[in-house]
Amino acid sequence: MTLPGQLNPAPRILMGPGPSDVHPRVLTAMATPLLGHLDPQFLQIMNETQEMLRQTFQTANQLTFPVSGTGSAGMETCVVNLIEPGDKMLVCVNGVFGQRMTDVAQRAGAQVTTLEQPWGEVFDPQRIREALQQHRPKVLGIVHAETSTGAWQPMDELGKICREFDTLLLLDTVTSLAGVPVKLDAWGVDAVYSGTQKCLSCPPGLSPVSFSPRGVEVLTKRKTKVQSWYLDMNMVQRYWGEERFYHHTAPITMVYALREALRLVHEEGLEARFARHMRNHTALKAGLAALGITYATVEGHQLPQLNAVRIPAGVDDLAVRKRLLSEFGIEIGGGLGDFKGKAWRIGLMGHASRPSNVLLVLAALEQCLQAQGAKVTAGAGVAAANRIYAVG
Ligand SMILES: *Cc1c(COP(=O)(O)O)cnc(C)c1O
Repeated sequence: MTLPGQLNPAPRILMGPGPSDVHPRVLTAMATPLLGHLDPQFLQIMNETQEMLRQTFQTANQLTFPVSGTGSAGMETCVVNLIEPGDKMLVCVNGVFGQRMTDVAQRAGAQVTTLEQPWGEVFDPQRIREALQQHRPKVLGIVHAETSTGAWQPMDELGKICREFDTLLLLDTVTSLAGVPVKLDAWGVDAVYSGTQKCLSCPPGLSPVSFSPRGVEVLTKRKTKVQSWYLDMNMVQRYWGEERFYHHTAPITMVYALREALRLVHEEGLEARFARHMRNHTALKAGLAALGITYATVEGHQLPQLNAVRIPAGVDDLAVRKRLLSEFGIEIGGGLGDFKGKAWRIGLMGHASRPSNVLLVLAALEQCLQAQGAKVTAGAGVAAANRIYAVG
């Protein structure tokens, strides 16, 4: 065979649903020489990472660490550790990730009931309350930031409602963590998972998880073994906890990456970071409106880091995305499931949430829409975004 050339892909600006652009400091951290996974220096790095993760999740939960695997591994971790075969679980489904959680729960042997809401909408807490009253599940699963639709689920009341029925609250924060507030303790969340490749601006590969004392109690009182050896929190926490008991080799380089990403989060400050995401979203939204593009998510529940917008009538979805990629190196996401061919998903996640990206994607989209014969006022998108930035 002829040896493939040295790896040298054309540069991209990742503005889709993830993975998102990795911060240069994270890439640099990943070039750090390896330590052994039981080296005292690495144990210190693990502790620092866990402490910064707790601050990011706004929790005091002892059991807080990154699972080896992507966001879906975190989803599976939460489900298989809380569920024993035959247990009831209620899953809220308003997009792809609620559907995925349903599938994972069924495979884990749960008796699953779903509560459905149209794509692009969020759940009313009172509807959830009624469903809990009717079904009395052990676990309620819900997605905080539904990446397939851009919907941002309000969380203030759910923990209290779950406690009324002695139900555990399981939350997907893969796209929300470090982009919008995630307050595990204030919200009464019992099990949570996230991912490194969205608003944390790391490569994919780790899934931060956290279990409340209530969640841990369920874990320790199980009658059956956790179905997955690899994701059994009773075992993995003996490595991340004080014992440092070998379970599987930690992905050292990814832990370096996450540690640096979390340092960046706390250097900036959570509130400043959320405000930055909101400001860039507001500018993008104003610019898109000026180009005649509207949101596919209901007003008032639109995620700043994931902008799901309707593809204008008569515009070819694939042609636009191809042109964005080839002419500008910009990757945006297409629609999934119900939104396939109908929506674009423009991510402004973590390091990618910057005015330069907002202005570039608006200028590039204008050109793509013009090439498709759509009527757009020259420069209107960029001008509208700049009016938002000018306000400060
Ligand atoms: C991306 C995502 C996942 C899955 O994460 P992977 O890293 O792709 O395994 C789960 N839930 C939500 C809301 C996501 O956005």
